[in-house]
Amino acid sequence: MDRNKASKKIEVNGIVQGVGFRPFVFQLAEKYRLTGEVANTSAGVVIMIEGGIDNMANFSRDLREQKPPLAHIIEIREDSQPIQGFKGFTIVRSDPSQVMSTLISPDVSICDDCRREMFDPDDRRHLYPFINCTNCGPRYTIIDDIPYDRPKTSMKHFKMCADCQAEYDDPADRRFHAQPNACSVCGPNVTLFSSDRMAVEGDDPIGMAADLLSKGRILAIKGLGGFHLAVDALNEKAVAELRQRKLREEKPLAVMSLNIGAIRQFAEVGENDEMLLRSRQRPIVLLPKKTKDGEEILARQVSPRNRYYGVMLPYTPLHYLLLSMGFTALVMTSGNLSEEPIAIDNGEAFERLSEIADFFLIHNRDIYLRSDDSIVRRSAGHTRFIRRSRGYVPVPVFLKDEIPPVLALGAELKNTICLTKGNQAFMSQHIGDLENLSTLHFFEKTIAHMKRVLNVEPRILAHDLHPDYLSTRYAGKQALECVQVQHHHAHIAGCMAENKVDGPVIGLSFDGTGYGSDGKIWGGEILITDYGQFERAAHFSYLPMPGGEAAIRQPWRMAFSYLMDAFGEEFRTFALPFLNPLEGGAMDVITRMIQKKFNSPDTSSLGRLFDGVAALVGIRNEVAFEGQAAMELEMLVAGQSDQVYEYEWMTGRPHLIPTRPIIQGIVRDIKNKVAVSVISSRFHATLVRLFTDLCVVIREERQLDRVVLSGGVFQNAILLSGLIHRLENQHFRVYTHQQVPPNDGGISLGQAVVAAANLKDRAN
Ligand code: ZN
Ligand code: ZN
Ligand code: FE
Repeated sequence: MDRNKASKKIEVNGIVQGVGFRPFVFQLAEKYRLTGEVANTSAGVVIMIEGGIDNMANFSRDLREQKPPLAHIIEIREDSQPIQGFKGFTIVRSDPSQVMSTLISPDVSICDDCRREMFDPDDRRHLYPFINCTNCGPRYTIIDDIPYDRPKTSMKHFKMCADCQAEYDDPADRRFHAQPNACSVCGPNVTLFSSDRMAVEGDDPIGMAADLLSKGRILAIKGLGGFHLAVDALNEKAVAELRQRKLREEKPLAVMSLNIGAIRQFAEVGENDEMLLRSRQRPIVLLPKKTKDGEEILARQVSPRNRYYGVMLPYTPLHYLLLSMGFTALVMTSGNLSEEPIAIDNGEAFERLSEIADFFLIHNRDIYLRSDDSIVRRSAGHTRFIRRSRGYVPVPVFLKDEIPPVLALGAELKNTICLTKGNQAFMSQHIGDLENLSTLHFFEKTIAHMKRVLNVEPRILAHDLHPDYLSTRYAGKQALECVQVQHHHAHIAGCMAENKVDGPVIGLSFDGTGYGSDGKIWGGEILITDYGQFERAAHFSYLPMPGGEAAIRQPWRMAFSYLMDAFGEEFRTFALPFLNPLEGGAMDVITRMIQKKFNSPDTSSLGRLFDGVAALVGIRNEVAFEGQAAMELEMLVAGQSDQVYEYEWMTGRPHLIPTRPIIQGIVRDIKNKVAVSVISSRFHATLVRLFTDLCVVIREERQLDRVVLSGGVFQNAILLSGLIHRLENQHFRVYTHQQVPPNDGGISLGQAVVAAANLKDRAN
């Protein structure tokens, strides 16, 4: 036996299928003159390799260090073996019955190589809008089942031409086994339609679309995870028209620009922002607006009353072709009516969007699973998700320990679901608000799809405590063991899970609404939290929400509630400016509702306090979307404030925090004509001090020094960074969300780990 020769079996676990991993292994083996084979397995790939010892070592090193861009290695195991005497190196064909369920790559933006080829007049894919390779292109949204092979994707309808097939079969080619491989001869194509479904004749549909956009027309454009509605972002009239037709009165509209240079014309791009914008996930990044002579550069209707734009770079070849026709920015907002799921199907798009779009730029590559654009923002030194969807899903969150398979159904608003497998928690894309039938269908479809492509049959269902949620009713109909999880417990547990922190911890769970264990509406909760259980250590005192849901849409009602509590009915004589537009009759009704506690559920919500304060200082009495008033209050903060309002709590189990002294302080400032921006700064500073002081007290009581921050209120960058800073100064260890959103989009992760912990507790 040759002493300088060795043989090894190497198992690689992770996202290593459909990302060019086997050809990469093949090329490495050739480079180091090694023999053997590589094959897909259920866990990833297995490599049998033999040859000279030095070359083997180099091979192992390069395997780790030079992996293809989309590969995500979780684990590599190497075992020595007896020499088998392979002749050459081969890629073993997948046996579909063997190859089950390995991690699937998310959809990825077009790579630099493909972009270069697309704009190269000599390339055979010159200007071809579906160019892709193993390093880029659609994945998750075109897969219907596993294993990830062309017949299981929406590319099955396209038979590759000889040229494409040759690339696909050549292990040395960048398109070896690139499942969506295509060209203009054999692949999908683009067509322009009018809103009455008539094809617009012409050999350059993208050019014609660009021309229409530059003339102020509204286009529905089929993208990667669904349709966008597009208009020229500089055209005030067109943007206003889109807003009106889409019934999206106030929410900011996302925009897309060709490159960073174009973005810098209208927004501030920090170093980290640039990295995020360019990342292959291509999220929407929130960037501070630039102004010129006090005026915004883009149409005012793009992002009214907001300091930020949501901006992204193109991520499909089609986007690049369109944007390169001379736009500073295009509005690219999701193609749906108000709160319905984004349209993905051509027929569906015509049906639902023909009242909005003048023209449709569509193609014939089906989208199997919709996926909205992801939204991120830099805050307190890290990237924070506002929405985690396209580009990130289905990369799992890795848990500290293996747990039984759980399906967690998520929250009512900003719903996502979570399916666990071993130590991996797979969060779904953004599903939306589970309040209408079409979103419920999408929810059910996503569950079925994820179970199929991840090959998981859950043993437990985790769902919210609320008896009337659609997800709770869905749970009731399944023949599975169900675990109910309290909303704010789930928030904290999710943040603990992604940080791999075990309880107990002090959890600050702050949001707008969540159903409490006592049937009341919680949202300003300090919880002592384990995965299995929680205890309320402190919360805001309950106050009535006059009219229930109506108080969310009309924050002035909340202002009334806080003012009644602080001053009694007398406050109506204070001549507070926010009272001016209100009708006497309506004010009387709300006052009586609060006094009699009629149709006024109790709430301890911090989100509502933000809303109420925003109304009280005169920002707005009504909102078009949840959290709008609170967001505008944050936008007004002018620098740090050393001054705070008085605050207190009543010691007990739990401690109770009255809003009274804070509201009284704010009213005093309003009477003294203190600027709203100053009031806002003081309000934020007050909360930071109040919560830090409470954490110090709770640390003494419970001997806990780790604080976990979660809940939608932590999208507020001022509060988040202020609290982290002050808590750390008090020597707390602080944990925040970096992999999933702090808002209800992250709830399903928390539900999953809580349910698993409860199962374990019961088993013991
Ligand atoms: Zn590529
Ligand atoms: Zn072809
Ligand atoms: Fe929440």
